Amino acid sequence: MPKDNKGVIRRIHKLLLNKDVSCQELTKRYLEKINESNLNAYINTCEEVALESAAKVDKKISSGDEISLLEGIPMTLKDNISTSGIETTCGSKILKNYKPIYNATVWNDLKKVNSILLGKTNMDEFAMGSSCETSFIGGAKNPHDLGYVAGGSSGGVASAVAGNIAAYGLGSDTGGSVRQPSSFCGVVGLKPTYGAVSRYGLIAYASSLDQIGSIGKTVEDVSIVFDFISHYDDKDSTSHPGIKFDTQGNLKKDLKDLKIGVPNQYYEGIDKDVKENIISALKVYESMGAKIEYFDLPEIKYALPVYYILACAEASSNLARFDGVRYGYKASHYKNINEMICKTRSEGFGKEVKRRILLGNYVLSSGYYDAYYKKAQNLRGLIIKAFDEAFSRFDVLLTPTSPVTAFPENKSYNSPEEIYLADICTVPVNIAGVPAISVPCGFDSNKLPIGMQIIGKKFHESKILNAAHQFEVFTNYSYNKDLDMGVNL
Ligand code: GLN
Repeated sequence: MPKDNKGVIRRIHKLLLNKDVSCQELTKRYLEKINESNLNAYINTCEEVALESAAKVDKKISSGDEISLLEGIPMTLKDNISTSGIETTCGSKILKNYKPIYNATVWNDLKKVNSILLGKTNMDEFAMGSSCETSFIGGAKNPHDLGYVAGGSSGGVASAVAGNIAAYGLGSDTGGSVRQPSSFCGVVGLKPTYGAVSRYGLIAYASSLDQIGSIGKTVEDVSIVFDFISHYDDKDSTSHPGIKFDTQGNLKKDLKDLKIGVPNQYYEGIDKDVKENIISALKVYESMGAKIEYFDLPEIKYALPVYYILACAEASSNLARFDGVRYGYKASHYKNINEMICKTRSEGFGKEVKRRILLGNYVLSSGYYDAYYKKAQNLRGLIIKAFDEAFSRFDVLLTPTSPVTAFPENKSYNSPEEIYLADICTVPVNIAGVPAISVPCGFDSNKLPIGMQIIGKKFHESKILNAAHQFEVFTNYSYNKDLDMGVNL
């Protein structure tokens, strides 16, 4: 057991309260480290905004005012979360220089408590990808080995948190984009229940699947952030009324008699190292008193095609607004409005985004709607039902987060399907709208991190965070990492 299993947020909070470091000094140190870093984790930094908030926090502390837990904590947002007056590019040339005129609700909340926004982090273009490499500035690197990707699409947040250039961050997860990069970078990532966190101001990819989630060094960190950002928001019509979480209060509960379901289908075609580590994790749970049972979840075989049909269909509609008229990039030479829109979109979007817009239009076209889109919607219903049934028997499900560990940089793929296949473990969760967390559970033979996924019933975030925290404390994979911030964190 580690001597001190406090997360990064509580450690920084204590330092600030004890005046061991001022918030401005700490912020400057983080900004310096970002500038020195070769992780390509940030698309833009925002020194002025960060230092202005830090000054406010220092003033409060020196006048003896109370500060809340997230106050003064240096953090980051994925670059598809709208920040008023601060560039928000979605990792795309089409939104280069775009400054939103309003804040996403999550940022509004965090700003109110003087969170220190260090900058906006790198991502696959419009969150489409699994390696971060479709970003217009190139991918974020994996701090465990710079020759490997950080994962995607929220690769920048995961890389920044793992590389100690943000205490925590928010990403978005449509098919795994919070969990998979967390798994690749050896950090913790939570995808909340659909409707638990407001998505107002999140630039949409696939609206029936998108969800904002937190990434941190430890389960406690993501739990603190989740408790704070999850609430009803009348600006998001999918926000769930009347929710209030205290997942932190439940972290220390023992796991005696916790029923863990292990779906057999998730263990087919998984890398040997990944499989072995997950099996060891199951043994750890057994030793903590949990009951493990293997069971069949055959509907999972439909998840990948269902996801890619629905996500592309929704994306083709959501991305229609980028036309060079209202905001973002606009082609410079054109003869008429049609040519302007056509050139703007051809020059502004990257290859993967174009592929998905075409696929989406295809599955929605009148001749193919029934064969693809409608069929995918029906199968989505089957998958939701299968999860409902599983949760009538089990408290949580345990699976790998990804069938593989981080890919080498610039890996060439024979086809896009090859990379889509690596999303197999994460996409079912978004299809069903349930919460899931990725927690580090070991390393492969190249010393790259492995993540396991704990899936819960809708709005049962407390349960999965509790199961994840108990494992983390027992195994120690998330602790004892030197933060090296020039102060004793
Ligand atoms: N890799 C998946 C995709 O490319 C998931 C992305 C996401 O969750 N934003 O669609």
